[in-house]
Amino acid sequence: MPPRVLAPHSASTVALAALLACGLIAASHADEGDRRHEPARAAPLKVDPLPPSGPAFSKGVVSVANPYGAEAGARMLEQGGNAIDAAVAIAYALNVVEPQSAGIGGGGFMMIHLAGRGGHGRWHHDDDDDDDKRGKHRGPRGRTFVIDTREKAPAAATPDMFVGVPNASLQGVAVGVPGMVRGSELALRRFGRLDLSDVLVPAITLADDGFAATPRYALVSCNARSQNSPESTAVFCPNGNGTLGPVAGTLVQNKPLAETLRLIARHGADCFYRYQPAKGCDIAKGIVEGQKFAKPGLFNGVVTPGKGGSMTYDDLAAYRPALRGVTQGSYRGYTIKAMSPPSSGGLTLLQMLKMLERFPIGDATQGYGFGSAKTANVMAEAMRVAFADRSIWMGDADFVPVPQRGLLDGTYVGLRGAAIVPGARIDPNPLPGDPRPYETAGLQSSTRLAVAEPVTGPGETTTHFSVVDRWGNMVSFTNTIESSHGIGVFAGYTRDDGMRKSHGFLLNNELTDFNTAPTMNPFTGGPGYNDVQPAKRPRSSMTPAMIFSPDGEPLIAYGSPGGATIINSVLNVTLNLLDHKMTLQEAINAPRLSVTSATSNVTVEAAYPPAAVEGLRALGYTIGNADIGSVQAVLVDPRNGKQYGAADARREGTVIGLPRR
Ligand code: GLU
Repeated sequence: MPPRVLAPHSASTVALAALLACGLIAASHADEGDRRHEPARAAPLKVDPLPPSGPAFSKGVVSVANPYGAEAGARMLEQGGNAIDAAVAIAYALNVVEPQSAGIGGGGFMMIHLAGRGGHGRWHHDDDDDDDKRGKHRGPRGRTFVIDTREKAPAAATPDMFVGVPNASLQGVAVGVPGMVRGSELALRRFGRLDLSDVLVPAITLADDGFAATPRYALVSCNARSQNSPESTAVFCPNGNGTLGPVAGTLVQNKPLAETLRLIARHGADCFYRYQPAKGCDIAKGIVEGQKFAKPGLFNGVVTPGKGGSMTYDDLAAYRPALRGVTQGSYRGYTIKAMSPPSSGGLTLLQMLKMLERFPIGDATQGYGFGSAKTANVMAEAMRVAFADRSIWMGDADFVPVPQRGLLDGTYVGLRGAAIVPGARIDPNPLPGDPRPYETAGLQSSTRLAVAEPVTGPGETTTHFSVVDRWGNMVSFTNTIESSHGIGVFAGYTRDDGMRKSHGFLLNNELTDFNTAPTMNPFTGGPGYNDVQPAKRPRSSMTPAMIFSPDGEPLIAYGSPGGATIINSVLNVTLNLLDHKMTLQEAINAPRLSVTSATSNVTVEAAYPPAAVEGLRALGYTIGNADIGSVQAVLVDPRNGKQYGAADARREGTVIGLPRR
């Protein structure tokens, strides 16, 4: 059955767009109790099944940005583990083989779909202590939720703590309380089938015995950030010339990290979060001492002291991961679930999709289709409008009243999207809207707003991987230490004998995802939503996502690294799949387009069709070139349960399907 096209082919007036958005484009936050903006539907929409991509499997698939990471996950599945076990094994293994991107010094978002067909490990329906207990996130088949291991600001953090600090993202003050170890322990305890000590085996082996440096490891190891401290310079630039990492193929070992992981395997997460010297648990000391790192640098042309962090043992001991519902909406009849606050990912992605749904993006006969100037034009405009809202309204909803319903309200998004006119560029730049009147919960009196943060490119930062197991449980996991190599400093301390103790993992610089100076809400005059507050999580762009059929069958798990471009990578792939009808691998391979602000500065990948680039230039956009993102995805065909994977050649994307061929 062909897809039902939900929207007419063009609409340029505010009224029409608002009407369309109201009636035809449904999206809701998972917390939304009432469905007043959902259209009435007599019967479920029918959508095209998504086409197979590559060889089919039945016992699980992992798709990871690194071959060793993929192998670690596949082994867990082969040993009887489920997708959660595999995901945790991958995350730890990547700390060894992709240390610049993510690891136990950082955090991330682990989106889980439990299919309800077994393999759930220790999960019981009466699990409590989270908002999932109220059953709000259970779909017709299984349930989808996120373990949020995002770093938190220490208790002594202040909104102005970065002011006047040279190279703030390379100072200890940028280090957030890491979440991965506590979160992965929770994941295994609640939803896994294997023990932490089993799941850590691949990572410990890789760190202890070593691995042959992959070409990418060799390429990205030695850079300005990895040379921030003498210790990291010695590890990542072993040739001493300041530019070259280890030669591809040479053995890379990380004995200190192997020892750290053994401690965690033996004693659990407490050994990471609490300083217990009697047990040999000194990792917390390495974190607290490591984040005191301060290095003088130039500020406004003057040599200025650096600034260490304020993290204490109490901050570490107090860290708790959060179980969260997802942000969800529909596009072309499919249900899209993506990361909720503290990420801006899900809200921004769904806003863009809702604005684009009235255009026949896939229809080349009307001048759209992949890579046409018209498609590129409306994509860029949707990004500009959504990123204008993102700059003001998104942050950690545990601390600030993010208007999640208003931002996705059909009328609101319809009005915002009405500014998009094919063949034109919004000029002057779109301003943020005010979604508060569209909040069904009513206005908050203490509204606080924020401005845009610096945007990082795809580079070496962050990593995304996806897993499906034999039972159909899925994980979509984006994990990060923020910039490449975080602050470029390992956790560690100077021992009583004067020798240096390294724990072998890099400290994050996640707190520079906050506004790095106090900001003001232009609407209310209150502080910015993404300003630093004690124990708050910095706003993220990470967008682990899943696509579901209208009747709730999980189809795809996907996501990407790339700072704010993450959201656009996920958007590009979504349109490629649902509008352009590409296979999963084609959708990942296709060149991407990204705008991460309200400006007309568009970034395209080198292979983006030249006619579209010229068309954008003619409309007054500024065009830059860069690689964008690294998408790892898995797909399930609900008609027969066959499983597929696709990975991104922009990094070392690797798919392993089971049973192995
Ligand atoms: N720290 C960034 C975020 O949470 C991700 C960094 C990156 O992907 O470059 O949005």
